[in-house]
Amino acid sequence: MERTFAMIKPDGVRRGLTPEILARIQRKGYRVVGLKQMVIARETAETHYGEHRERPFFGELVTFITGGPVVAIALEGENVISGWRAMMGATNPANAAPGTIRADYATTTGENVTHGSDSPESAGRELGLFFKPEELL
Ligand code: ATP
Ligand code: MG
Repeated sequence: MERTFAMIKPDGVRRGLTPEILARIQRKGYRVVGLKQMVIARETAETHYGEHRERPFFGELVTFITGGPVVAIALEGENVISGWRAMMGATNPANAAPGTIRADYATTTGENVTHGSDSPESAGRELGLFFKPEELL
């Protein structure tokens, strides 16, 4: 069964959206195989978003993602990598389809509530970055 790394970003946690987002995951039928609230270390954030290192928004992105607690989530389910990204909607909430998390709960690209791995390679890498094997049940 496929697994992915999902995260409720600091804006989502700060705004109390964690229960709502977990409810959507549960209703969809994905299994939560790992879950923890944490503050991301700067080095971890820079590794996680390494593909964006040269982008102009990289510094802002790292400051934002390390600026408060996140909820790190490991999900399991049929086609969960693309399915979870479909539930989140487009990166820019203005382009996100109605009913998606980003359309319903976000207004800016910089603070768009959730993260989801974009490929099997990213999922494996990100799950390994945020969870020890024994934390995934
Ligand atoms: P994520 O990786 O967070 O799940 P994504 O895969 O939809 O989002 P990416 O292209 O990987 O989007 O960008 C990573 C994150 O960087 C975005 O979620 C957003 O918070 C931020 N970001 C992307 N593009 C911009 C931009 N043009 N301006 C500001 N922030 C941006
Ligand atoms: Mg991404």
